[in-house]
Amino acid sequence: MRSLAELSRALESRLPAGLELLRQMVDINSWTENRAGVRQVGELTAQAFADLGFQTEWVPSANPRWGEHLILTRPGTGPSTIALVAHLDTVFSPEEETRNNFHWQPEGDRIFGPGTHDIKGGTLMMWLTLQTLRELYPVEFGEITWKLFWNSSEEMLSPDFGQVCRDRLGPETLGILVFEAEGKGPGCRRLVVARKGRGVWRLQVAGRSAHSGVRPTAGANAIVQLGRLVDRVHRLNDESRQLTVNVGLIRGGTGLNRVPHAAEAEGEFRAYTPDAFEVGRRGLLALSGPGDIFSPIDNFHCQATMEVTSETSPWPKNPGSAALFAHWEAAGVDLGQRVEPESRGGLSDGNHLWAYFPTLDGLGPSGDNDHCSERSADGTKLPEYVDRSSFVPKAALNVTALVRWIQSSRKS
Ligand SMILES: [Zn+2]
Repeated sequence: MRSLAELSRALESRLPAGLELLRQMVDINSWTENRAGVRQVGELTAQAFADLGFQTEWVPSANPRWGEHLILTRPGTGPSTIALVAHLDTVFSPEEETRNNFHWQPEGDRIFGPGTHDIKGGTLMMWLTLQTLRELYPVEFGEITWKLFWNSSEEMLSPDFGQVCRDRLGPETLGILVFEAEGKGPGCRRLVVARKGRGVWRLQVAGRSAHSGVRPTAGANAIVQLGRLVDRVHRLNDESRQLTVNVGLIRGGTGLNRVPHAAEAEGEFRAYTPDAFEVGRRGLLALSGPGDIFSPIDNFHCQATMEVTSETSPWPKNPGSAALFAHWEAAGVDLGQRVEPESRGGLSDGNHLWAYFPTLDGLGPSGDNDHCSERSADGTKLPEYVDRSSFVPKAALNVTALVRWIQSSRKS
């Protein structure tokens, strides 16, 4: 194995060109709704990988408002495929970037800017890793078929991208690496081996209107009913199962002199395991039906309708992710870096892929404040940034782990 010093020398010499590429990517607004910007970042990305011998494919999003997914492929001489995953879009509109003067801005070791951390910095990490792998380990680089996937609309939870990847990956696939940012731990890097799944729910209550002063007993108050039900939703939170249920929005009523006839609430629920996720889903759906608020004059009961409107399945801890993690842990020992597994509450494209191929996430750089563009004068609010010094050691870890993984795949 190459030493950390050798790897660092090779990586340091590529870093200036890599950071220039990152600056260009960050300068292009690629908010999910900005189709032209997303395409432009994709073109720049394809150009950057072209000298490694990658072929370009564009795949339209299922949602025509969003841009095309980018796929780069480089056929290898051996039988195995490895997939790398990132995304082209960010959460920031051009107006927001202008309003908050949020642009590429290095300050000491930090580089602030839209997507520096989530996830254009991850794309730079892919580039550094593959360039250096080819330079120092040409045999391992050359035997693998590399398939690189960029989601055009990850920040909108595009449901089709997982299928786009799966359609292009067969049983020859050793696994999938997702280049979202690494987790921060004291003295260690954290890689993601599990993520919560997420469901979205909506609860509607139909009651009956009445004059609130003249004939209140003819009314069935939908807001009061909803209040009772959202308390029951909240009580579905279950720490022992790591099941979280959030009431996020609530609305109802039309005027102060009416018993309200309609009210609704919306929220989400999340869990790491399919079992806990199912407990949440069933608990929510069980709230449908007649309520306990009714009009005394004729026993008219409020009616509750609970729906789960969208679901992204959990990515639980599993043997495939654990086996992949073991290569990164061993590479950490080679290089004197402590590497730990992390279960993360947020979603990534890994949620759509782990059940089909061994998947590891958190391969990107370190930084913080994703999805934030604001900066306050007193420094208590800082926008998204990436740590410049995290690129070289993390790419060294990725290169070493890939070599270990590729070599071990020959034996099996
Ligand atoms: Zn991301």
